[in-house]
Amino acid sequence: MTVPPPGAAARAAALRDQLERASHEYYVLDRPTISDREYDARFRELQALESEFPALRTPDSPTMRVGAEPQSQFRKHTHLVPMISLGNAFTEGELAAWEERLGRLVADDARRAGYACELKIDGAAVALTYRDGVLATGATRGNGTVGEDVTANLRTIHDIPLRLRGNGFPPLFEVRGEVYMPFSLFEKMNEERVQAGEPVFANPRNSAAGALRQLDPGVTAKRPLRFFAYSVALPDDLPPDVPTQWALLDLLETWGFPVAPRRERCATIDDVHAWARHVEHQVRAELDFAIDGGVVKVDSLPLQKELGVIGSREPRWAIARKFAPDIAETRLVRIGVNVGRTGSINPYAELEAVELGGTTVRMATLHNFDLIRDKDLRVGDVVQVKRAGDVIPQVIGPIPEKRDAAHPPAAYVPPAACPVCGTPVRRDEEEVAIYCPNVGCPGRRLEALVHFASRAAMDIRGLSYARIEQLVDAGLVRDAADLYGLRDRRDALLALERFAEKSVDGLLDAIDASKAQPLSRLLFALGIRHVGAGAAELLARHFGTFDRLREAATREGGPDEVVAVRGIGETIADAVAAYCADPAAQALLARLRDAGVNDTEPQAAAGGSALAGLTFVITGTLPTLSRMQAKELIEAHGGRVTDSVSKKTSALLAGADAGSKLEKARTLGVDIIDEAELMRRVHLTGENR
Ligand code: NAD
Repeated sequence: MTVPPPGAAARAAALRDQLERASHEYYVLDRPTISDREYDARFRELQALESEFPALRTPDSPTMRVGAEPQSQFRKHTHLVPMISLGNAFTEGELAAWEERLGRLVADDARRAGYACELKIDGAAVALTYRDGVLATGATRGNGTVGEDVTANLRTIHDIPLRLRGNGFPPLFEVRGEVYMPFSLFEKMNEERVQAGEPVFANPRNSAAGALRQLDPGVTAKRPLRFFAYSVALPDDLPPDVPTQWALLDLLETWGFPVAPRRERCATIDDVHAWARHVEHQVRAELDFAIDGGVVKVDSLPLQKELGVIGSREPRWAIARKFAPDIAETRLVRIGVNVGRTGSINPYAELEAVELGGTTVRMATLHNFDLIRDKDLRVGDVVQVKRAGDVIPQVIGPIPEKRDAAHPPAAYVPPAACPVCGTPVRRDEEEVAIYCPNVGCPGRRLEALVHFASRAAMDIRGLSYARIEQLVDAGLVRDAADLYGLRDRRDALLALERFAEKSVDGLLDAIDASKAQPLSRLLFALGIRHVGAGAAELLARHFGTFDRLREAATREGGPDEVVAVRGIGETIADAVAAYCADPAAQALLARLRDAGVNDTEPQAAAGGSALAGLTFVITGTLPTLSRMQAKELIEAHGGRVTDSVSKKTSALLAGADAGSKLEKARTLGVDIIDEAELMRRVHLTGENR
């Protein structure tokens, strides 16, 4: 046996210590202080040392064990069969090496049998014991052999069946799976906690694991937990009555368990590589829950049995193909602020460059100043950054342990004055945002112009952010009406940098063409508070002209007729009334009209709408439209809205946190569209009229 060099034993002991501490913080306290990536790197270093110098291996090494000991506050639960962990492949090379080892063990059978590939949900593992189809016990994984009995908590999770559907299930068995918290619900929960003055949670994984181990099930019930099933265990380790993992997942679904989407059956390891690449680079961004990789399993259950486990920790027949983390750590260099078109002042984070989900990130949103205060975020802190969905990265929060305790950075103070025009900021009682009250603020004007020209508003092609900035800086444009006077300033435009003759003419034509846009787009373009594209469309269709809308909005006694429009509430009606009564807005509208900008909505010819004959189902939370508004909009354009997805559904309109309807639409091959696509189709109707 090779004798370990001096220092190797000490290094192994130090790694064991660090991993031990990290595991306790992760599994018991649900409050990790190092990232998974750091943990995995140390784990691998220890594994490598132990395999080179087996004398260094101790029976209590973290490489020999699963999870952490169950805690005494909970009753203990002994699993029917140990719940083990998984080996890791961080690269395609490592995955290929795993497959080669399989090939050596079971000749070519493993390759021929193929693989079941599943998402690796980043939550907390649980085992649910069913007796005669009824949920009897639910437990955490614990140390793999003995877990914590958290039955009362698991019963609060709505998608865990308390009684199984169908039949054919064993009289006594365990269903294993992962409890997790969807991103959208996690964020909603945190927003509510901010409102209630409670501290926010760091990330969905730890919140889910923490919620599961509450002593009061009433607390667990308030946390938005969900479940995905992925395997079963029978007494005496008997195999389930199906030939493959793939068939087992189907069976779990028929018994009423949710099974994670986007799984795939692959014949060869090359197909597995392709699936994993697709999941890492595309699917992951579309999911509303965290995954940290894919799990590749030999599909044949008899073959799984034959391959068995390595030690007591990981199976030979499955491996985790881990992805680059979509949570990264970096330093907060500066907190910058933007002024939005309605004057709202919003903070953003400037970060030391860091790799996150395959791209380099230097900036992230911070939402609002309360969040900075609640999380006690300070410039100079090491922070966690995440990318959820395909949205801009977000700062989750600081890692207080990494703050220099002797010289902590100063607490952040939000600006007292607008960073663009210097006017003292204001804050409304019930709103989180602070804002610049100066309607003439150049920062607000710039953003308002960018919005006016944007695709969903007046759609002025060629009028980019940079160009608008140039026009404003040169003093040629102060507000939207000035755009329509630019034809008379052609020479001044040509004098600007990067404004060549051809592009100037193209731009002037695009500005002229925008005069014919329908009232719905103009209403949205004006940037009236709370009036999104959907509300603008509903108002325009109902009132037909701006004058009629103004009359109804400013009528003595209140804007009742506006409130009565289906899909429009009091907040919108009041905002429209306030806008119409504002002399500055009246002056702007008069100038737009003088320039020839249309302020009427062409009425659709009977039955001539682009959505006529189409049936839609709406699911999830849309970015700007409420469900009611979306329904109104579809119906106003001749479409129909129903509740459930079937083969006859023309399209599913899906927003964030779309659940089973989305899956069903995918399975049936039903067209899936987002709000932007709906607006595009609705506006096509407008152009056709
Ligand atoms: P693991 O998370 O790497 O893999 C095993 C687990 O994957 C299973 O127990 C199961 O819960 C889960 N899983 C999700 N989807 C699955 C599917 N479709 N099929 C089968 N299993 C699925 O291993 P682990 O032992 O649970 O945890 C070790 C990992 O936890 C480390 O690699 C590290 O990332 C993290 N960790 C981090 C810290 C820290 O301080 N940051 C500490 C300890 C552990």
